[in-house]
Amino acid sequence: FYRLSLESLLSRNESLPRVIAMEAKLNALLSRPESKDLQLAANRYLLEVKKGADITAAYLLDRHGLTLAASNFLQPSSYIGNNYAYRPYFRDAMEGKLGSFYGIGTTTSDPGYFLTAPIEANGEKIGAATVKISLENFESALIRGGDTVLLVDAFGVIFLASVPEWKYRTLHPLDQETLRRLDASRQYNNRPLPPLDTPLRLQSDPLVIRTALPNAPAQDYLMQSKQTGSLGWSIVLLSRTKQERQNALLAGIAAGFAMAFLLSTVIYLRLNAKGFRERRQAEAELRQAHKELELRIAESTEDLLLTNASLEERIDSLKTAESILRETRDHAVQAGKLAVLGQMAAGISHEVNQPLTALHNFTDNAVQLLDRGRLDDVRENLGLIKQMAVRMGNIVGEIKNFARRPPVERVKVSVADVIAQAQMMVAPRIRQVGALIDVQSSGELLVWADQQRLEQVLVNLLINALDAVGEVAGQRIHVRVSDEGHQVSVSIHDGGAGIPEDVLAHLFEPFFTTKPVGKGLGLGLPISRMIISELGGRIEARNHETGGAQFTVYLEKA
Ligand code: ADP
Repeated sequence: FYRLSLESLLSRNESLPRVIAMEAKLNALLSRPESKDLQLAANRYLLEVKKGADITAAYLLDRHGLTLAASNFLQPSSYIGNNYAYRPYFRDAMEGKLGSFYGIGTTTSDPGYFLTAPIEANGEKIGAATVKISLENFESALIRGGDTVLLVDAFGVIFLASVPEWKYRTLHPLDQETLRRLDASRQYNNRPLPPLDTPLRLQSDPLVIRTALPNAPAQDYLMQSKQTGSLGWSIVLLSRTKQERQNALLAGIAAGFAMAFLLSTVIYLRLNAKGFRERRQAEAELRQAHKELELRIAESTEDLLLTNASLEERIDSLKTAESILRETRDHAVQAGKLAVLGQMAAGISHEVNQPLTALHNFTDNAVQLLDRGRLDDVRENLGLIKQMAVRMGNIVGEIKNFARRPPVERVKVSVADVIAQAQMMVAPRIRQVGALIDVQSSGELLVWADQQRLEQVLVNLLINALDAVGEVAGQRIHVRVSDEGHQVSVSIHDGGAGIPEDVLAHLFEPFFTTKPVGKGLGLGLPISRMIISELGGRIEARNHETGGAQFTVYLEKA
């Protein structure tokens, strides 16, 4: 839970430096750093970003690591004029990588997580955009949470802790080389980093260790640790072992019994040994003991109430954390939708641009030809214009089909019929490619489907297979229909180059295509998957062991 909260906090701002790096105002300042107007524009822009993204600071470094603009330009502790060339994140950015780093600010002394992206012009790195994110809220949530949680860097330095006394101490003594590296990057601003009194060694498996937390005796703890983030950090949770808790409970109960037994023995002895008068006195003592007992019960009840209240507090803070997580997840969902929208816009404009440019040229031609009285050529041009219009119409049609689909109707459908029909529809393309479609089936099989929609899926898969084998005569595409008990599978296996690993992950995303303009819109597979899942089946893609891609559709047998 703590790890997930931290990772969501870090990843939320991951793309921010790249976005900032695209800003033209920063680029302009990098080429004319002395311009006061450009400085002001860049500073204001960075301040806007800081406010909008709710981060600690955003700033711009030139190729030498010098800060040219910063969101804190109005503050006395502004970064402007400081040189951060010694920070590893700057060096990473200058190598074209996304730099990330956690350390104490050398200007402000506040710790933070730094993320940096290179700014490039004409293929050269001319500067870096950096953001600083504070983990302060996360740390206070840790302290409020009541658990013993430590965040440890790759060297073993505890840089965040729910136990303040352990912050900036190391799990074990550091070697000279590590100390030298920490010094060079001023990661912890040259603070002393004393080791813990009892060294701790992290392990991937949970482990029982004996150590003393500040202001507490040495005890057994269950130590659990997990790697987190991209900087080799570990998050460590120390919890009292169950054994330890049981021992404490048993010891308490035993002491209680012993007390009660002693008390009653004392009273009994006194009652018996002395006379009547003394018995009365004993009675008084008994009453007193009774009162004491009541007092003690009241005290325990109060303890219980207190414990209860602190439990309720913890539940409350967990609830808050949960709502933060939910919000983060909603953000992520929204970001995912935006990404698909961006992909869609890019796909469509890419696809529509070519016929649009052609339309422009043809209309210009037509006008010139008309002026010269070459009517036959005008007619031919108009024919081409119509072809372009039809092509754009097809693109729009495909998108409409994707957005608004009529509901499917499931009836008994013969798989052989659907395959024959689909084959007929792609016949011209089969002839053009010169391929052979080899269909094998284990008997006459029926499935629950919608004939037309299933045809559409098979046409999509066949066209992809034909595209994959290319125009080499005699290529075979194998279509296999198999009886799989309560399901029927139809697999299409081509002899093409197969699907590269990075393509495999995006295959079913709308508008994902590796084909050139005019060849594919990247909607075939996502539409196919939607149809098959509406029919209650599923579609799978893999690379066949003998080479080539294999797509398999599973449907319910009728
Ligand atoms: P499109 O065919 O318009 O590109 P699809 O959604 O049908 O859209 O396919 C998406 C991508 O999946 C293709 O661009 C191609 O990279 C890959 N792909 C699909 N079928 C095959 C296949 N049989 N062999 C190799 N790659 C394939």
